[in-house]
Amino acid sequence: MTNEDDVWNELASIPADPPETRDKCQQCKRPVQVCWCPGLPKQRLNPASRIIILQHPAEAKRCLRTVPMLALALESGKCLIFRGKKFPLPKHEGLSEILNDKNTILLYPSPGAIALDTLDPVGINEQKAYNLVLLDGTWPQAKAIYHSSPALYFLRACKLIGVPTSQFQLENGAVTHQSKEFLIKQKTYPKLIGKRLAKQLRILPDNTS
Ligand SMILES: [Zn+2]
Repeated sequence: MTNEDDVWNELASIPADPPETRDKCQQCKRPVQVCWCPGLPKQRLNPASRIIILQHPAEAKRCLRTVPMLALALESGKCLIFRGKKFPLPKHEGLSEILNDKNTILLYPSPGAIALDTLDPVGINEQKAYNLVLLDGTWPQAKAIYHSSPALYFLRACKLIGVPTSQFQLENGAVTHQSKEFLIKQKTYPKLIGKRLAKQLRILPDNTS
């Protein structure tokens, strides 16, 4: 065999599809190169209030997802996720009760929505812990969820006003892609919630000493 044949044989032995070499992070399930876990708080946050995510099914499939980040940053039970295009359905166990709770608020810019920071913080004027309902999807998906879910029309609606860009950008109630990328770049979780929102929900670090 000539040298040329050797080279040719070597080339021929290279697999057509390179094997999957990108290791995935066990926690966030993203390739380790783009793992965002270092941006999570060292101690999970334990707010008095709960965050209720109504997630469009298409959003769950996206690779850059904000909700798992939120779920990993909060104590268990403080971030509930329900999936669907309308709510509540019989499969959404416990959601009807939440939507009937007077302490439930919806982050959505409906015509009657008030500024989030005009709500009584938890503990003031006997305000109990909130259930903050967020719609997770693109803005058209969030709008579609809202319009298909009459139970949401009866919730007190709030909107974020004048939130600096370094805070959790829930533009128009939907989590946008720019903001997700922005969050990844920021690598600091408390900014995901935003100081004002955190105050409203009384988010206290676990390790208060
Ligand atoms: Zn990770």
